[in-house]
Amino acid sequence: MTQAKLIDGNAFSATLRDQIAARVHEIREVNRVVPGLAVVLVGEDPASQVYVRNKNKRATECGMTSFEHVLPIDTTEKHLLNLIEGLNDDPAVHGILVQLPLPRHIDAQKVIEAIRPDKDVDGFHPWNVGKLAAGGIGLIPCTPLGSLMLLRDQLGSLSGMKAVVVGRSNIVGKPMAHLLIRENCTVTVAHSQTRDLPGEVRGADIVIAAVGKPGMIRGDWIKPGAAVIDVGINRVTLPDGKSRLVGDVAFDEAVAVAGAITPVPGGVGPMTIACLLRNTLTAAARLHCLDIPEAHPWA
Ligand code: NDP
Repeated sequence: MTQAKLIDGNAFSATLRDQIAARVHEIREVNRVVPGLAVVLVGEDPASQVYVRNKNKRATECGMTSFEHVLPIDTTEKHLLNLIEGLNDDPAVHGILVQLPLPRHIDAQKVIEAIRPDKDVDGFHPWNVGKLAAGGIGLIPCTPLGSLMLLRDQLGSLSGMKAVVVGRSNIVGKPMAHLLIRENCTVTVAHSQTRDLPGEVRGADIVIAAVGKPGMIRGDWIKPGAAVIDVGINRVTLPDGKSRLVGDVAFDEAVAVAGAITPVPGGVGPMTIACLLRNTLTAAARLHCLDIPEAHPWA
């Protein structure tokens, strides 16, 4: 039985981080600009703490300055907004990321909208959302950008291909659909109310799974030879009581049908942090009017 090619996000992201580090080194030496990333965490959610630590570690490894702001769970919205105002005005900070989710007493949308759009390295500010949708140049959400880089590396031009994006969140599904439209794909966006999900997936040359349900997308839904990008990260408990991470695609089934597929872990996950660093470098370069090699003409 033929097996799909595994798309190695660990290797791709390592190369991308090396390229970013080389350019950061250059602009530090030549232009005396040190890209700075500020990461803000409210509360003590263990998973968020791990994400924030990894983001800061990777930023430092790339030669960037990393500013970590860990605030107690009872931080007021006003206090958080004041902190963001300070980061907006701080010339050493080029990228600001507020780790989501925020505690319920804080209005996350208000916080996102308080971040200066040109420092919004998550790409969630309505200004950046609008730029992506309308075909302009802004900052692009990291997970969809990383997924697109893997697809382009695998397939070259995506022009004319049929893509299905399963999931319509603001963080993954919707920006992914906009990116694929910009790549000249014919895009279907599926969600929990989609009538014939297997049928929609069967017609697609490219499948993006961003649902948050372990193994929901089955192997016999996949068109033979299709490229499958599994964004899902789900922790499942095994019969022996141990746990492991799985994606939204039934990997063992899909790998026998697809042309190429991302594993979980080791696929899209590592691309997200690499693209955050890429966005921070992009933001610093734009703020100081420096050239950087483009990840894409519009990124
Ligand atoms: P959300 O919960 O915000 O969105 C899930 C989407 O899936 C919704 O649009 C929902 O539809 C849709 N959905 C739910 N059930 C079904 C179903 N039965 N059939 C079809 N569609 C369905 O999740 P996110 O977009 O934030 O994340 C999705 C996954 O990606 C998660 O596993 C998350 O952990 C992972 N993730 C991974 C990242 C990475 O770095 N690799 C980064 C971000 C997320 P509806 O809108 O109708 O409710």
